[in-house]
Amino acid sequence: MAAGAAARRDQGGEKRILCVGLVCLDIISVVEAYPAEDSDTRCVSQRWQRGGNASNSCTVLSLLGAPCAFMGSLAAGHAADFITADFRRRGVDVTHVAWQPRGDVPCACCVVSTANGSRTIVLYDTNLPDVTARDFERVDLSQYKWIHWEVFISKDLAQHFGYRSAPEALRGLHSRVQPGATLICAWAEEGADALGPGGELVHSDAFPPETLVDTLGAGDTFNAAVIFALSAGRSLQDALTFGCRIAGRKCGIQGYDGIV
Ligand code: ADP
Repeated sequence: MAAGAAARRDQGGEKRILCVGLVCLDIISVVEAYPAEDSDTRCVSQRWQRGGNASNSCTVLSLLGAPCAFMGSLAAGHAADFITADFRRRGVDVTHVAWQPRGDVPCACCVVSTANGSRTIVLYDTNLPDVTARDFERVDLSQYKWIHWEVFISKDLAQHFGYRSAPEALRGLHSRVQPGATLICAWAEEGADALGPGGELVHSDAFPPETLVDTLGAGDTFNAAVIFALSAGRSLQDALTFGCRIAGRKCGIQGYDGIV
C-alpha cells in the first residue's frame, strides 16, 4: 500500500469513485402527455437540472453515501455556474473539471411525460472540447478505488447495434471486450443482465414503482448503484439487483431526491 494512500485513509479519507464523462444542463418540461409536433401546449412543471451521464451517476453515488468526483469538460458562464453550484450542493468533488477556453456547455431539452414516465431528449453538445489524456494524467489515481468511463452497455447502444434484448447484446459483444471483463446491460422494464468474467449470465428483474413518473437518468442511476455495490465487494448478482432496485425507485420520482 502506498504511504500516501494509507495516510489519507488514516485521516478518514475513504477512497473515492471517479466518473468521467458528460455534464450538461437539462431543461426539463414535465407534460401530461407527449405533445404533437408543431402544437402549442402548457406543461405541468419546468425545471433546470444538472444532467449528463457521468454527472448524474455522481449525484446518485453521493446520495448513496459514496465519496465521488466528476471529471469532464465545462466552459465558464451561467450554465457552468449553475452546474458547479449543484455539484457542490451534492458534495461531488469538481477538482478534475477540465475548464475549456472556448465552446458552449452542452444543453439538453428534455420532455418527461407523466402519462408513462418517458423521457425524450434533444442534446446539443457539438463544440466543447473533450477531456484529454493529458488532463487525465494529472489525476492522482491512488485516491480512487473505481474509475467509471463507459463500460456498461445501454439499451440504446445495444439497439443501435441491432440487438433485441440484454442477453443477446451481451453474447454478441462479449468477443469484442478483453477476456475476463464483466459486461452489464440494463433494459428498462425488463431489468438488467450481466456477463461475468467466467462467461456466466446473471439477471435481475426490474422493480417497477407504483407509478412511473420520470425515467430520465434511470440508466445513470442503475450504473451508479451497480458501481457502488461492486466497489464495496458485493457479488455481480447482488450489484445487479441493487442497481435495478435503486433505478426502479428513481423512476417513481421526479429527479433524484428520495432514491435512498
Ligand atoms: P436508460 O434508458 O436511462 O439508459 P434504461 O431505460 O435501460 O436506462 O433503465 C435502466 C434501469 O432502470 C433498468 O435496468 C431498470 O432497473 C430501471 N427502469 C427503467 N425503466 C423502468 C420501468 N419502466 N420500470 C421499472 N424499472 C425501470
